[in-house]
Amino acid sequence: MTAPLPQRPAEHVDRVLCVLAHPDDVDFGSAGTIAGWTAAGTEVTYCIVTDGDAGGFDETPRDQMGPLRRTEQTAAAKEVGVTDVRFLGYPDGRLELTLDLRRDISRVIRQVRPQRVVTTSPERFWERIGASHPDHMTVGESTLRAVYPDARNPFAFPELLADEGLDAWAVSEVWLSASPRADHAVDVTDVFDRKLAALRSHVTQVSHQPEGQLEEFLTGWMRQTARTHALPEGRLAEVFQVVYTD
Ligand SMILES: [Zn+2]
Repeated sequence: MTAPLPQRPAEHVDRVLCVLAHPDDVDFGSAGTIAGWTAAGTEVTYCIVTDGDAGGFDETPRDQMGPLRRTEQTAAAKEVGVTDVRFLGYPDGRLELTLDLRRDISRVIRQVRPQRVVTTSPERFWERIGASHPDHMTVGESTLRAVYPDARNPFAFPELLADEGLDAWAVSEVWLSASPRADHAVDVTDVFDRKLAALRSHVTQVSHQPEGQLEEFLTGWMRQTARTHALPEGRLAEVFQVVYTD
């Protein structure tokens, strides 16, 4: 008997769904990787669970923050070739692991029918506690539960099929960002400018920083990530833990 070959992510997939807690999460963790996918012809959909209405640093009245951040996320998506952006409208900072959230994510999975899902790790990152915002972990866990078993089980949330005609759908790969077990590095050096443009679209989040600070922070962080994952010196990387769910 031979040992099974280690699994590797598919070279190309037709559709990817990214499920994240807040506007800007997808851009910090994955916008470079997504720019590469859309350039290769993959259709990418964003599903943002909250409007990020508890974030920001400026004097924007709180009731305007949610709509503003939706606009910013939509603009950021365009920078990396994504035009399908959906918002679930849950309250920022107050996410809990509920059946309602699992159903709402399962609905989007069944609508989009992605081969690959990107979300945040449900596991706490002890060395980088800022990556483990409770909303991020809750969305990661809810999304994994939606991928397996809810979205693929026709008898889970039967109202999705009965009332909305949404058939069961099995996602093959889940890519977890901000994971303490990252095992897959993507070299995004050539699309770094697009990631930076996406992040700069989140004006309420980044405009308080002095000119150049965001770029300096990102290149330092991503260069170190590339080094840790044995990419050539000077390259910039985003990393994921890839989970195979078939
Ligand atoms: Zn966040």
